[in-house]
Amino acid sequence: MNIPDLLAVQSRKYPEHEAIVTPDERLTYRQWNTAVNQLSSSLLELGLGKGDKVVLHMPNTKDFLICYFAVQRIGGVIVPINAKLVEQEAAFIMEHSDAKLFLTHEAVFPSVRNLPDKVEGIFAKTGRRFDQWLSIDQLILEGESDEISCKLTEDDEAALLYTSGTTGAPKGVLYTYRNILSVAVMICIEMTMKPDSRILHMMPLSHSAPLHLFMVAGTYVGAVHVLVPSFSPDLLLETVSREKTTHFFGAPIAYLATAKHPGIEEYELSSMEYWVYGGSPLSGSEVTFIQEKFSTKRLMCVYGLTEAGPNGTLLGFNDHPHKAGSIGHRAALNCEIKLVDEHGEEVEQGQIGEIILKGEGNMKGYYKDPDKTAETLKDGWLYTGDMAKRDKDGYYWVVDRKKDIIISGGVNIFPKEIENMLLSHPAIADAAVVGVPHPDWGETVKAYVVLEQEVEDLTAECRRFLDGKLADYKIPRLYEGLKALPRNATGKLLKGQLRKQPQH
Ligand code: ATP
Repeated sequence: MNIPDLLAVQSRKYPEHEAIVTPDERLTYRQWNTAVNQLSSSLLELGLGKGDKVVLHMPNTKDFLICYFAVQRIGGVIVPINAKLVEQEAAFIMEHSDAKLFLTHEAVFPSVRNLPDKVEGIFAKTGRRFDQWLSIDQLILEGESDEISCKLTEDDEAALLYTSGTTGAPKGVLYTYRNILSVAVMICIEMTMKPDSRILHMMPLSHSAPLHLFMVAGTYVGAVHVLVPSFSPDLLLETVSREKTTHFFGAPIAYLATAKHPGIEEYELSSMEYWVYGGSPLSGSEVTFIQEKFSTKRLMCVYGLTEAGPNGTLLGFNDHPHKAGSIGHRAALNCEIKLVDEHGEEVEQGQIGEIILKGEGNMKGYYKDPDKTAETLKDGWLYTGDMAKRDKDGYYWVVDRKKDIIISGGVNIFPKEIENMLLSHPAIADAAVVGVPHPDWGETVKAYVVLEQEVEDLTAECRRFLDGKLADYKIPRLYEGLKALPRNATGKLLKGQLRKQPQH
C-alpha cells in the first residue's frame, strides 16, 4: 500500500467522480490522475527519482494536490512547507532537507523569487516560466499520460514535514507510507468518510493534521476535496452552504472567529457531519457558544502532534457537554496512550504524567537527528512532551507542555493554570506566562498580558486579582503589557519569542 496508488485506484473506480473543487475549477478523479501522470513523467525527465526530496510551497490549490501525488509517484519524498514562509525560511528547509526540487505557486512566488541565488536545486512555479524558474503548467502539458509504476512499499519514506517551531527551531519529521496510511485509516473509520463525503480544506495543507488526517483519508475513500486557499469566516460559511461539505478541520480560533460572525444564522450548515478542531482545546463556554451559533452538536476534538502522524486521542460529540477542555478518554484507532513519570512508569489516576503514544502513525524519526529521535522514540512509544492527568472518569486533561514548565526554587509551576486564571480577569484579553532567569531561584514567573480595558497599575492589579486564587509561589512576580501576543497561524502561542525578549 502506498499513497500514489490510492489515487490511481480511485481514478479507475470513479473516473468521473468529482475529486477537486476550487473557487474556479472542478476536476474529476480521472483528470487529477492524468495531470499527476504527466507531471511525474516530466519529473523523471528532469532526473528526479526514488528517495529525492521535493519541497512544496503552495497554498491550498489543485496544483498542491497534483504536485503532492506526482512527487510520490516517482518515489520522491514530499516536503510540504507553509505557503507563507519567506525566502530565508524556505532556504533553511531546502538545505536541511537536502531537497533537489522546489515547487511553488504564482500566488506566493514573489516571496521566494530569489531563492535560486541562495540555494542549489531545480526551481519550478505554476504559470509561465520566469528566469531560472521552470513552469509547472508546461511540465504537466509536456509529460506522458501513461501511469508510471515505481515500486513502493509501506516502509518507504513518503513525506518530511517541518514542525511549526512553537517550542524552538523547526524539526524535520520523517514518515513512511505506513505511518501516514495508518492515520488516514483511523480518520476514515472514526469520522465515517465515504465516497460522497465532501471535505473542506481551509487550513494549510502543509500541516500534518489537514494533510494526513483529511487529505490522504479523503483520497483513500474517493471523497471530494473542496479547496479554499485561506481561512476567513465569510469564506467558511459561504463554502459550506454552497458546496454542502461534510467534514472540516480547523483550529479553535477559526471556530471562535466564525461563531462571532454577524449573520452566521443565515447560512445553511446542516450538511456538516464532522466539525473537527485540534491543536489546542476549547473551553466549556466556548463549546456552548460555537454549538449554539453553528446549530450543531457535531463538534469533535482531536489531540495529536506532528511526530505521531498526528494520531492521538479524540473527544467525541457526546463527550463535549460534560468534558469540553479535555482530550477524551481513549486513544484513537491504531494508537495507544499512557501517562508516565520521568522513569517511564505509569502514574496513578489524578497524578500528572507525560503523555506517551504508541502506534503506526508515529514518525520514522527526526531527519538527520538520531539523538533527538532516540530521546523521543523509546521502545515504540513516542514521548510527546505534553503533561496531562486523568480524571476519575478516565478523561485526559493536558496540563501543559513539558518545555513550558517553570522551575522556580526547585518547584514545578504549570503556566497554563496561571494563564487561565489571568484570563478570567474582565480587563485581560490574552495572557502568556513564562519563566525568566533569576539569580537565586533559577527562574521566576513572568506574565505577558494584553489588556482590553485600561488598568491603573498592571502589576498591582494582577497581584491583587490572583491573591488567594493561586498559591503565592505561582503568582507572577513580573508583568508586562503587550498589544498582542506572538502567535502562529493556528493561534498557538510562540513562547520562545517571549522568553527571548529583553527582560527589565
Ligand atoms: P513544535 O513541535 O515545533 O513546537 P507545534 O507545537 O505547533 O510545533 P504540532 O505538532 O502542530 O507542533 O502541535 C502539537 C502540540 O499541540 C501537542 O504536542 C500539544 O501540545 C498541542 N495540542 C494538539 N492538540 C491539542 C488538543 N486537542 N488540546 C490541547 N493541546 C493540543
